[in-house]
Amino acid sequence: METKRFNQQEITEAAKILRQGGLVAFPSETVYGLGANATLEDAVKQVFIVKGRPSDNPLIVHVENFEQVKQYVDVFHPLTETIVEKFWPGPLTLIFKIKSDALPRVVSAGLSTVSFRMPDHPLTLALIKEVGAPLVGPSANTSGRPSPTQSEHVYHDLNGKIAGILEGGSTTIGVESTVLDISDPTQPPMILRPGAVTKEALEAALKVPILVDQHLVEESQAPRSPGMKYKHYAPKTTVWMVHSDDWQAAFDWATSNHFKIGVLASPTLQERFSNQMTAIYPLTDETVTAAAKGLFAGLRALDEEQVDLIFAPVFSETGLGVAYMNRLKKAANQHFFKP
Ligand code: AMP
Ligand code: MG
Repeated sequence: METKRFNQQEITEAAKILRQGGLVAFPSETVYGLGANATLEDAVKQVFIVKGRPSDNPLIVHVENFEQVKQYVDVFHPLTETIVEKFWPGPLTLIFKIKSDALPRVVSAGLSTVSFRMPDHPLTLALIKEVGAPLVGPSANTSGRPSPTQSEHVYHDLNGKIAGILEGGSTTIGVESTVLDISDPTQPPMILRPGAVTKEALEAALKVPILVDQHLVEESQAPRSPGMKYKHYAPKTTVWMVHSDDWQAAFDWATSNHFKIGVLASPTLQERFSNQMTAIYPLTDETVTAAAKGLFAGLRALDEEQVDLIFAPVFSETGLGVAYMNRLKKAANQHFFKP
């Protein structure tokens, strides 16, 4: 199959393919999604096959407005309206109890809940509208590889396996959406996956305490311990995390062992250690926002270089730092450089 690159003038053509059950990847503000018509069972099954995704991992359904959700859900948490008003469109996925048999069971991997998101990207909203049905959209990568933040990443992983890619430039946020469970109207909302909509932002907007899935809490409370050996988002090259105070020691150790190092490097790091790096993926500034935006693209780019190890900066686990460290720890298999 030839994978066609669609530009914004060709949304109608891309939508036609999706309506007929084909797969088209689409841009969003977080990462590129692998689109399929969420109402067509065979199309959704194809998503799992093409990605090599385990069938017990549920998909997120992308809508172009909140009304669309009401076709599939009839029990709502009292905070739903406020959440949707303040955070949609945006990088926040909401989990609801699904009306029975409203969508093919493969979408939710057999669960009684299903997750929805309204992406903040004009091309993708136009695409969903043109299809006339919601789209499932897991990250458009091969399962286990870093998520795609540029259409080239999608092309690299899925060329020949999907009908097309809607071109939308680089994604702005770079990490996947926050997943918030509001499926039980009697319970406080709970974050299941951290993203750019932070616990702090949700609490400020909703004025209620937001719970965080216990597994995530344990990870962030013991950042230097190995934790769960669960690898994900991983390049082939080994990745180590480096605390801000440890860069000198890390480069000295690498140099004395004749290791070639690739670095996700802020301007300051580039200036201080450029002669000790074999390859650099430049971050635009010193912030966690820049690190999150560059993380997956940087891991992919450095994986193509002849390096023995990739170093990536540690950020404190507050705000967007929670999501960044969550993804980085998985890519690094929980490994920190220890001086
Ligand atoms: P991805 O499509 O790769 O961005 O991953 C979607 C993620 O959203 C899954 O791996 C789950 O962590 C989460 N998710 C989606 N739907 C549900 C659901 N019904 N219940 C719990 N978690 C969900
Ligand atoms: Mg994914």
